[in-house]
Amino acid sequence: MKNRERKMNGGCGHKECPRQCRDHGSVQSGSVRLNPNHSHEKQPVIALAGNPNSGKTTIFNYLVGAREKVGNWPGTTVEKKEGMMYIGDTKYTVVDLPGIYSLNVYSIDEKIARDFLMQSLPSMVLVIIDASNIERNLNLVIQLLEMGENVVLVLNMMDMAKRKGMEIQCGHLSKLLQIPVIPAVALRNQGLEDIQAAIEQAFSVTPQPLHIDYTELEQHVKAVIGLLGTHNVELGISHRSVAVRLMEHDQDILTKLRRENAKCADEVLEYISSASDSFPDDIETWIVERRYGFIHGVAKESVKRHLSLTDRVTISDTIDRILTHKVFGIPLLILTMYLLFSLVFKVGDPFVGMIDGFFQFLAGSLSRLCESAGVPGWIGSLVSDGIVSGVGSVLVFIPYIVLLFLGISFLEDTGYLARAAFLMDRMMHALGLHGKSFIPMLLGFGCNIPGIMATRTLESPKDRILTILILPMMSCSARLPVYTLFVGALFEENQGLILFSLYIMGIVLAIIMAQFFKRVFFKEDIAPLVMELPPYRLPNMRNIILHVYSRAAMFIKKAGTVILFAVICIWTLASLPVGVEYGSGDSIIGIIGRIAAPIFAPAGFGFWQAAVSLFTGIFAKEVVVSTLGTLYEVGEHGLTSVIQQNFTPLSGYAFLIMTLTYIPCIPTIAVIKKETNWGWTILAVVYTLVLGWVVSVAFYQCARLIAG
Ligand code: GDP
Ligand code: MG
Repeated sequence: MKNRERKMNGGCGHKECPRQCRDHGSVQSGSVRLNPNHSHEKQPVIALAGNPNSGKTTIFNYLVGAREKVGNWPGTTVEKKEGMMYIGDTKYTVVDLPGIYSLNVYSIDEKIARDFLMQSLPSMVLVIIDASNIERNLNLVIQLLEMGENVVLVLNMMDMAKRKGMEIQCGHLSKLLQIPVIPAVALRNQGLEDIQAAIEQAFSVTPQPLHIDYTELEQHVKAVIGLLGTHNVELGISHRSVAVRLMEHDQDILTKLRRENAKCADEVLEYISSASDSFPDDIETWIVERRYGFIHGVAKESVKRHLSLTDRVTISDTIDRILTHKVFGIPLLILTMYLLFSLVFKVGDPFVGMIDGFFQFLAGSLSRLCESAGVPGWIGSLVSDGIVSGVGSVLVFIPYIVLLFLGISFLEDTGYLARAAFLMDRMMHALGLHGKSFIPMLLGFGCNIPGIMATRTLESPKDRILTILILPMMSCSARLPVYTLFVGALFEENQGLILFSLYIMGIVLAIIMAQFFKRVFFKEDIAPLVMELPPYRLPNMRNIILHVYSRAAMFIKKAGTVILFAVICIWTLASLPVGVEYGSGDSIIGIIGRIAAPIFAPAGFGFWQAAVSLFTGIFAKEVVVSTLGTLYEVGEHGLTSVIQQNFTPLSGYAFLIMTLTYIPCIPTIAVIKKETNWGWTILAVVYTLVLGWVVSVAFYQCARLIAG
């Protein structure tokens, strides 16, 4: 039916021409439409149409190699501009038209464009639309398609669309409209090469006029088409399109029709006027509404909307008003962190217990297996006491690490961590640190390792190293068993306060050391924090899981290899010379303990068992407890009385200061090495040792003086 309409309009006589009527023009319109496959004298004409500021002139300049003025205000192109373009051997005339929103136009420059499109009837219309306003821009496209124009659609400004959170499925749009659709960013010459290929291809197919269903109005549309048919009118565009446009009160079409066949025009007008009397709605409004309904449907089907940047920014502003509030901001941050930590330890504990249990079971069964297999005792001991227990004591941290990073990545991905750093920046700056150091330090209270790994969020290497260096001062959870054992055994009152004082001492020491290191190593100022606060987002689970996986894998690999080496070393020291009881005072480790013991005498705990337990505590600080149990042969339960016999409250507290401060555990050392280099790693080991000794001695001596 559509083809028949075309035939009726046609008459160029080229049998092989697929675009019988439209390409070769109708005499009435006084213009010639050309197909590039035919050897007409005139070149095919390609018109560039579209809303103002959709990038027509930019694309025109690209296609014809011109330098027309590109402007950002309406009316820059008020006259049409012509240029030439070659695709292969075919020469095309390209016409840049003033911007129009629809074919029902009002202003002079709009009329220029409309007249060109409706009267000169170009061979093809390249419609350039602003993809970020696709719905409004599609109106013109749809009207041209209804007329049966040969349209190639360029979705320009895809960059803006993306910024608005729009994902346009060009393939689907192309299917819906049955025309080529080319995504482009004309400003950056993206996608423009595809335009020429699409033009060439589009010439080889016959365009079908778009058929929008005007539902109840259809019967009247058909009646008008019938009238046009009986009078045999030829206006160069399909009868259906003429009918619809006449019902929209298109004066130009009406004038044309009058000129062509006045009688027909009168009959049509009369019909429309009687139809509009009986029609329940205003016909023009009806048409516009159906058309917009169609456009809306097309846009809805081909555009996925994500929350746009600007939406997110405004939502973010609202959230920020609460989360970075002057008064509530920091309490909210503390609450968030508290919840995170309690969640991590609540959820993690059972897993830690399971892993711990597994390694104990493994160590036990391996040693029994070795015994029954008649393997020399030292091998069984190496495997069970050394490798399995030692490596196991490190691997038990994995649940904490995974969970902490899960939480941290989640907060980071939502954009909240940036706010946390922003909130803490002023305070941290006063301490000579960077705002972003806050999170790693906070994590350090859980476990120093994720804390050190989290320094990666700091851009400046100096800030990172400084933060890593002081991180071991944060009392990690592994130190807690030692604290609770000693505080419980030696102090009857204010136990909580004494425990808390150790945490505070760690923070104070960290601040002092930060100032010291800054003066010595990093003389320039810490980079001021210019926080870009990214908009809040829903976190991406895939990103988070990848992030957590990489951190956990790094921990297992690096810490695993170093710890294995260290475990074997310490086991050897505790087992040699041959025949000595494992870890006794006669073993090498015991001998080292005896040598080292006098060093700690000024701190009040100058006996070898204390020295050895500190030594094995390098593994993981809670090992201090189990070592004391082994050395005094009481197990962990009889330790309270042992401690009461060997320590005074003052020397006990000095011992805790040492436990807090000296050498981060071996996995931590491994991670420091991984994140920095040997130089900083050695510095971290040495300064913590020296600092621990100095502070515990200073405490013990001062306290004794004061106590008299
Ligand atoms: P016309 O009114 O349709 O002729 O549009 P112009 O070619 O004059 O372009 C209007 C404005 O949009 C100019 O400032 C162009 O630089 C800009 N522009 C053109 N294409 C793009 C695009 O793909 N992305 C963006 N962001 N801007 C564009
Ligand atoms: Mg322009």
